[in-house]
Amino acid sequence: MKLVFATNNDNKIKEIRSLLGNGFEIVTLQEAGIDIDIPEPHDTLEENAREKSVTIHNMTHQNCFSEDTGLEILALNGAPGVLSARYAGEQKSADDNIVKVLHEMAGKTDRKANFRTVISLILDNKEYQFEGICPGTILTERKGGKGFGYDPIFVPDGADITFAEMDLAGKNQYSHRAKAFQKLIAFLKAH
Ligand code: IMP
Repeated sequence: MKLVFATNNDNKIKEIRSLLGNGFEIVTLQEAGIDIDIPEPHDTLEENAREKSVTIHNMTHQNCFSEDTGLEILALNGAPGVLSARYAGEQKSADDNIVKVLHEMAGKTDRKANFRTVISLILDNKEYQFEGICPGTILTERKGGKGFGYDPIFVPDGADITFAEMDLAGKNQYSHRAKAFQKLIAFLKAH
């Protein structure tokens, strides 16, 4: 089965491709010849994911999926949440975002957080959503050079190293994106 993945994020494409079994082919926006910055104007991951998949479906008329992810920190009432990409400003800098989280979290003892991914699939003109949650802890400083985004400050529950200290296979054992994607694959296999 061929699916267009509505993202321009190479790290997400790498993670998803490393999870794919036989029988699935992912086409990136670049491969589909689409060069747009897909809007994320809404207040929820669910609505943003839908906006992205609908936008790309309207352009390609092919089965496609998108995902939207947020880091939800309990002590910050769920922030940065849906604003994760631009927490420290429209420059969407991972480095600046981490600096802001560490600043906001200074002195806080409750360091629990969840990464949450929502996938929106459009299959035969109908939309379906799949959620993946990864609980963990926010460190007080960065560790590791792999991964992307907030990976250097997030240790998933059950591990003692950050996502940025893991290889792809290690991160996929815990990650929000892997959990959501496994639900998507199970749905497609059963469909
Ligand atoms: P979006 O889903 O592309 O809007 O991502 C929201 C923000 O969360 C961006 O700043 C990403 O870098 C960050 N992000 C998304 N997924 C991950 C992840 O798996 N690890 C760390 N940061 C992530």
